[in-house]
Amino acid sequence: MADIDLAAAEPGLLAWLEAGFHGGMQYMAAHGLKRARPAELVPGTLRVVTACMDYLPRAAPPGWRALEWQRLDDPAAAAVSVYARGRDYHKVLRPRLQRLAERLQAEIGPFGHRVFTDSAPVLEVELATRSALGWRGKHTLALQREGGSMFFLGEIFVDLPLPCTEPASAHCGRCQACIDVCPTRAIVAPYRLDARRCISYLTIEHDGPIPPELRPLIGNRIYGCDDCQLVCPWNKYARRSALPDFDAREPWDDAALLGLWAWNEAAFLQRTEGSAMRRIGWQRWRRNLAVALGNALSATGSEALRQALGAARGAADALVAEHIDWALRQG
Ligand code: SF4
Ligand code: SF4
Repeated sequence: MADIDLAAAEPGLLAWLEAGFHGGMQYMAAHGLKRARPAELVPGTLRVVTACMDYLPRAAPPGWRALEWQRLDDPAAAAVSVYARGRDYHKVLRPRLQRLAERLQAEIGPFGHRVFTDSAPVLEVELATRSALGWRGKHTLALQREGGSMFFLGEIFVDLPLPCTEPASAHCGRCQACIDVCPTRAIVAPYRLDARRCISYLTIEHDGPIPPELRPLIGNRIYGCDDCQLVCPWNKYARRSALPDFDAREPWDDAALLGLWAWNEAAFLQRTEGSAMRRIGWQRWRRNLAVALGNALSATGSEALRQALGAARGAADALVAEHIDWALRQG
């Protein structure tokens, strides 16, 4: 439970926006300081209750991080961020937060509240760290000693003067493994992320062409990027989810780029139903695959890849066609 006075976070937020690090995420700039002022977002709010939910799939073996690095090393494989391989977290977290609020009401009587899961301009990590759900790591995500960073955050804004939690202490120390490992150097300084360079942003949020100079650095990552979390020593302690919802669905544990490239739009919609991946839509999906295929072509020179790219060129829209042309030049 955190107080709503986030004034100390405002200068950092403004500097981040002024530097343009939010890229095309206009909603971040549009809401401005409302993100740091919960009572402006939901009038009457006095405290924010933050909850976290682990998402590492239940079946993740002890050496799961080594397996993820192996996948990233295989140019023909398709790498999807771990959090996105199961059910859309919005669908899991939001109703649970709502039920939690209702149970509290059953105990103490009616109170004003509103639930958020990555769905509004909320300074989630700031609130989480003030609620002892971790500290802000140099990669900018919330991070726990007992659980690493493989968890989602959700919030309940309440109009009750609840006692506030003591914040947790920070434990990055002199480590900067996340900064060093980032393929695109998106963590420009400790605790400072230039979203315009971040593969998670580029493959999920970003509309339009991916900057050509960053394409070779994306490798086979077709949806999101986990590198800064995989390398973090605290993720040795990442907890498995208590729920089956985040179990990896077919084919995300073992997907090959060429297999995914063969999907038509109907197959994309059907295979990503109920998954967060569906939100990026068909065009970004094809754009991302074309980049990964170009990188695979560069690494292997495979004739099968070249043919698959060439065969799709005619039916592609202008954005995807430009990425296919780039991919074909990598061979
Ligand atoms: S998600 Fe990937 S690209 Fe983004 S900061 Fe982390 S390592 Fe860098
Ligand atoms: S990799 Fe190191 S610096 Fe980065 S968040 Fe983890 S502990 Fe902190």
